[in-house]
Amino acid sequence: MKKTNLTGLTADEIEKFVVSLGEKRFRAKQLYSWIYTRLATQFDEMTNLSKDFRARLNEVATIATLEKVKSIRSSESNTQKFLFKLNDGAQIESVFIPEPRRKTVCLSSQVGCALGCQFCATATLGFKRDLKRREIIAQLMAIMREVDEDITNVVFMGMGEPFLNYDEVIAACRLMNHPDGLAVGNRRIVISTCGIVPAIRRFADENQPFKLAISLNAPTDELRNRIMPINKKYPLSTLISAARYYSLKARFRVTFEYVLIAGVNDSVQDARMLRKLLSGFPCKINLIPLNPFSPDWKRPSEDQVNRFAAEFYDMHAVVSVRWSRGADIQAACGQLAAK
Ligand code: SAH
Repeated sequence: MKKTNLTGLTADEIEKFVVSLGEKRFRAKQLYSWIYTRLATQFDEMTNLSKDFRARLNEVATIATLEKVKSIRSSESNTQKFLFKLNDGAQIESVFIPEPRRKTVCLSSQVGCALGCQFCATATLGFKRDLKRREIIAQLMAIMREVDEDITNVVFMGMGEPFLNYDEVIAACRLMNHPDGLAVGNRRIVISTCGIVPAIRRFADENQPFKLAISLNAPTDELRNRIMPINKKYPLSTLISAARYYSLKARFRVTFEYVLIAGVNDSVQDARMLRKLLSGFPCKINLIPLNPFSPDWKRPSEDQVNRFAAEFYDMHAVVSVRWSRGADIQAACGQLAAK
């Protein structure tokens, strides 16, 4: 008989499972807590469950974990990047980013990616498949076990496009947000999308409590078409109006990400066009100097980044520059798996 994998099951699903074994409901709470609070992987650890129940669990269930292929730690920042192997042999990357006031985990949502953004390392891998809810949550749990720190924030900025795997990503967010389990605050879970317009509207209509970030990366359709082919399907006007729709409905500021690429989208002129595009829109802007992985695309100088950022200082938008942590560990997502 195939054993039931409990990793990724919701509280309700675990309860159903426990009841199906003829056990009392409250046992499900204990089991849930062992899995998601104590991150147990062996039933024998679960000392408040009866010996018989543990033996039964050993027969019929497992708590599957991801196989770590390798991990590298940045000597500058202690950022740690992990390469995990899935059951079918596919590999994905996840990152642990410790900062003084928050400990963030960056998760993958797909194996590879279909979007073909020109400056992105994952794009060179092509698309293999969507991740399951349990494979998404297992990345977080594996890193929690490895680093032994309280994870405060989760971002979907690893491999893949989370809004092309909407159901599994939202299910994983619900699980990591569950107060009796992993308990990551809903406002500390950020889903980053390249701009899948129907999914942004759906996210708004469903009143999802998680945070939204949109990768803009260019101020005009002409440039965006060139570096992010998805823009041909969902051009800037439709993307910005979906973002406004979300922002009004959710009453939260949207974050726009803008990867700065030398000589491509980093001029003061580009900054002014971006400013115009977002004028009157109370949003946040994260400027991300490119993590180069091929000689074709370069990171702008610090001066150029500052000149670009300075164009926004008097706006209502909150601008911050996110220098990548871990250039020495190939921080551009997809770089490790591509090797
Ligand atoms: N597909 C989603 C999430 C994954 S990419 C999205 O597009 O948002 C997460 C972020 O990393 C995006 O803002 C993307 O523009 C940025 N990014 C991609 N390649 C990068 C690189 N080489 N250097 C810096 N940021 C990069």
